[in-house]
Amino acid sequence: MQYISTRGQAAPQSFSEILLGGLAPDGGLYLPQAYPQVTPAELDAWRHLSYAALAFEVLKKFATDIPVADLQAMTARTYTAAVYRNARAGEDATQITPLSVLEKDGEKLLMLQALSNGPTLAFKDMAMQLLGNLFEYTLAKDHAELNIFGATSGDTGSAAEYAMRGKRGVRVFMLSPHGKMSAFQSAQMFSLQDPNIHNIAIRGVFDDCQDMVKAVSNDLAFKTKQKIGTVNSINWARVVAQVVYYFRGYLAATASNAQKVSFTVPSGNFGNICAGHIARMMGLPIDQLVVATNENDVLDEFFRTGVYRVRKSAETLHTTSPSMDISKASNFERFVFDLLGRDGDRVRALFHKVETSGGFDLSGAAGSDGDEFRHIARFGFVSGKSVHADRLATIRDVEARYGVTIDTHTADGVKVAREHVQPGVPMIVLETALPAKFNETIREALGRDAERPAGFDDIELLPQRFQVMDADVAQVRAFILNHTGL
Ligand SMILES: *Cc1c(COP(=O)(O)O)cnc(C)c1O
Repeated sequence: MQYISTRGQAAPQSFSEILLGGLAPDGGLYLPQAYPQVTPAELDAWRHLSYAALAFEVLKKFATDIPVADLQAMTARTYTAAVYRNARAGEDATQITPLSVLEKDGEKLLMLQALSNGPTLAFKDMAMQLLGNLFEYTLAKDHAELNIFGATSGDTGSAAEYAMRGKRGVRVFMLSPHGKMSAFQSAQMFSLQDPNIHNIAIRGVFDDCQDMVKAVSNDLAFKTKQKIGTVNSINWARVVAQVVYYFRGYLAATASNAQKVSFTVPSGNFGNICAGHIARMMGLPIDQLVVATNENDVLDEFFRTGVYRVRKSAETLHTTSPSMDISKASNFERFVFDLLGRDGDRVRALFHKVETSGGFDLSGAAGSDGDEFRHIARFGFVSGKSVHADRLATIRDVEARYGVTIDTHTADGVKVAREHVQPGVPMIVLETALPAKFNETIREALGRDAERPAGFDDIELLPQRFQVMDADVAQVRAFILNHTGL
């Protein structure tokens, strides 16, 4: 299988060739030349597989240049109950992404698929853990090294560090805003003592950290010499690893391929729900894909109106579902490529317009950039929005009625899912984090602390290892040089 760029001007590449990279050279994002299809017979055969075996079957269709035995070994090592051990009481950890019924109202069924039982208690582990093994495997083959350099406000950085800790050939340099993460998030990252993990706390805000990563990445000579790479959400392997749990959720919720399900996905950078779109394009019987946003509603606006209007980073609101606080959705271009009939020239023009004029309009109104929004229903997408008051009310309601504590991002999902659930079509809400990660808001909603999985009780008391630095690119570069020895 070959991968092409959404902007139509990059040479096709194989899975392994794009694994360690980010954007295509023309500024686009990679997608398969054509989506592999699943047959009803395959779906039937997959009903009884373990998560790891299912992941192997799905990934085999995309990573066609990795020997199958190697891929099988990696998926088996990644998706084990030992890694996804933070299941709640009553959940079966061996399911990896256990599915449970949350609410039944006549023919309306709301289910919760737990994606957050991995080491950092957020769904980003699902993809990042596989990426860690894929990176180590690919680097070992070429006797190569990789220095991952990134910025985080919490979830992504910790998922990356837990996936890369102890991996041969990989170092991680992660910038975070000093004193701005929750105590739990800082403790999670800074308590890692692995010599290949470097946490740098920057005296500044998240945008300062991100600007420093951009400054270093724009220095191509430094980037090449220091073998700098990223693990941000546009990485294709991260997206494709997430396709698996849509198959898993579907197969767990249904008894025959004649049935359909819908998914509601708490969304920020559109990485998670993009994987749902890909599963649907492969032929998985998904009815609706419901995009749930918080106060930062760029995506909800698009899926209601056809107008994509990105916000300036200063306009991004800091909310109590912080991992969805985005001003532009970095994976959205992948969907737009399909919506526009895979016309790379049009995608290039529209995303150039995003840079120059802050957005585009596909509503078909006078003066708009196109009318392809009329095809939106064909792709199953709908959307909704949830704000702080909704979040608190939903957390309280779900706790009171069902005795289940959900995190703030999942609460946004449940709020929006209830607005879209249809009789006879199970609605699966993806649980993207465990509540312990966002305890401040759980206290506000419930007047008590969120329960913590075993082993996290005194995480704040563990010894911490991190550097504090000013927002000074030269200092960070010197630190990297010092630690890579390149
Ligand atoms: C990253 C994240 C999201 C948003 O996912 P995207 O793939 O960026 O849309 C939602 N919830 C949580 C808890 C996250 O960490």
